[in-house]
This record gives sequence, C-alpha cells and structure tokens, in this order.
Amino acid sequence: MNQKIRPNRILKGWAKAILNQHTEVGDQRMAVCNSCPNKTAIGTCAICLCPLITKTKVLEEACPADKWIDVKRIPGQYVALRLHETDKATINIEDNKVIVAYNENFEYNSLEEDTELNIDFINLRGDNDDFSAVDIKLKRLYLSHCGCFRSTINNKEHTHINQSKVQLNDGEAMTITLRYDTKLFDLSSDKDVEVFSKVIRVVSDNDTFQFKVIGGVDKPK
Ligand code: SF4
Repeated sequence: MNQKIRPNRILKGWAKAILNQHTEVGDQRMAVCNSCPNKTAIGTCAICLCPLITKTKVLEEACPADKWIDVKRIPGQYVALRLHETDKATINIEDNKVIVAYNENFEYNSLEEDTELNIDFINLRGDNDDFSAVDIKLKRLYLSHCGCFRSTINNKEHTHINQSKVQLNDGEAMTITLRYDTKLFDLSSDKDVEVFSKVIRVVSDNDTFQFKVIGGVDKPK
C-alpha cells in the first residue's frame, strides 16, 4: 500500500485536537495506537507518518494495519468501512474480505430497529498515487443486496435511481444503514437457529466493492 500524508484530513484532526475534542471512538483508537509497535517516539504512525493525536480523531481515517476496531479497509480497493455500533457487531478482515458479524442472535420477529447497523463507506483513494484526479472520485454509487435487508444510503432509500447522484471525493464517506428481516426463518425446519451470511455490494461507475454481514436468528419457543 502506498501511504502518504493528506494535509486536508490531518488539518481536520488538528482542529479537533486543539479544541481538545474527545470521542469514545477516538479514544479507543488512540488506546490501540498506544500499544502498537508502529507508534513512534514522537507520536506518529511509522507506516502512514500521520500524527496520531489528529489521525485518531478523524472518523474517515483508517489504520494502515487495520488494527482499529471500528474501521477496516477492503483489501486492495482503497475504500474502508467504519462500523458505528461496535457494541452490537464486530468488523474484521477474514480471507481478504471484510466481515461484519452481529455479536448476538436475534429473536424471530424482533423489531427491525434491533438489527440496524450503520456503516460508513469511506473513499480512501488518495492513499494511492496511481489514481488520476478523475478516477479518485467514486461516482453514482448504489447498493446491491438480497431482499433480506432493507437499506438506506445517507437516510434515503437506496434504489438505483435516486442514489445515482451519490458521489464521494477522496476522504468523504456515506452512511449505509442496514436492517435485517428476522421473519425469514423457515419455521417448518427443525433448526434452532437460522444462520445468515449475506453479501452487500456497493457499486460505482467503475467498481464493485463488497462485504459480508453474518448473524443468527433463534427459532421462536
Ligand atoms: S495507526 Fe495503526 S499502525 Fe499506526 S500506530 Fe496506530 S494502530 Fe499502529
């Protein structure tokens, strides 16, 4: 990975650092950095060279070694996914894929809100010098997934047509909201738990990015 410092993003972090703005997620990230061998004596990251006091405060930043618990980069594609609800699910890279896994099973027919996950999709193409000024933008983004989920992008229904204007410049993010339909359990089966593993695709003009959401639904008693 070709890492470089991006002044605009770091300035955003300095503004928060000067105002002494703390967030739970920023503090969690800093705790990981504090025990990371890549943290230098002057408080920068040895891989991306960024000052960690600022980098950890910018939500659209990602750890170049994917050590932070809230955000992971999709391998080889210069985008990242940031999970808002780290108490409800985990986000990890397994077999070169990003996997979001709910921590607990849901009850059959539970409220849709219970299954809600908000995931920021972040354009990190500025990490790679090979993208031209035109290609660095992700244009006309929409979601593709099976009918087990209802979803929105930036709080709007995600249909192909009305999302066709979502565009992300380098360092920008959009929020994907996913809700799983727990009533899909086949009640005639003799299984106690319906385990699901679903691929979510984010499609742009020129690329398809994907990640998996896995979880379980308990059979009603
Ligand atoms: S950003 Fe990642 S690699 Fe760099 S010091 Fe922090 S945890 Fe380590």
